[in-house]
Amino acid sequence: MKILIVEDEAKTADYLYKGLSEQSCVVDVARNGIDGRHLAVENEYDAIVLDVMLPGVDGFGVLEALRARRQTPVIMLTARDRVEDRVRGLQSGADDYLVKPFSFLELLARLQALVRRGKPQEAAQLQIADLHVDLIARKASRGGARLDLTSKEFLLLTTLGRRKGQILSKTELAELVWDMNFDSNTNVVEVAIKRLRVKIDGPFEHKLLHTIRGMGYVLESRIAGEAA
Ligand code: CA
Repeated sequence: MKILIVEDEAKTADYLYKGLSEQSCVVDVARNGIDGRHLAVENEYDAIVLDVMLPGVDGFGVLEALRARRQTPVIMLTARDRVEDRVRGLQSGADDYLVKPFSFLELLARLQALVRRGKPQEAAQLQIADLHVDLIARKASRGGARLDLTSKEFLLLTTLGRRKGQILSKTELAELVWDMNFDSNTNVVEVAIKRLRVKIDGPFEHKLLHTIRGMGYVLESRIAGEAA
């Protein structure tokens, strides 16, 4: 893990630096809000430990600048008697907070949880019944036969496949696949779904791509006999 510590108290910063380094983390330390803000915005960290009370720019200022650019997970360090800081931190986009003094092991556990949450273990393969998608090789096959998909169709398939069993509306698909904010042209999605359906379901009896009227589309393997 690559971690940024933004903390002006030398004792706490050194203690965190030492502890995290011993856990094989790569650690940067900023001793004030201005350096912290610069490092946080310019670099890609797995997580940031951010003190609230800092010289230069306080933790909220660092967080605000960071959130304009990045979604790096942030744990804020707050003082015991400053409940409003915790609330404000969470409202400003902090992911978690710890009240000082805290145990290193608790901080470490929370950092690990945040990093796991921030980087969901991306499956390399999707499997829906006999439909197989290799996300790394960017290939799809059904019943062992290679499917010839365009890149948009592949993206549409993986977008639905990553959320298999979950209904996605045309608006959601338009945003996720075409990066479009969608009011007018739902036709794009309909046309693409139609083409994808021909390719993945066309010759097969067991249909996987279903239209849920008025709601959207879902990719799932349904038990025979259930309405498609
Ligand atoms: Ca401080």
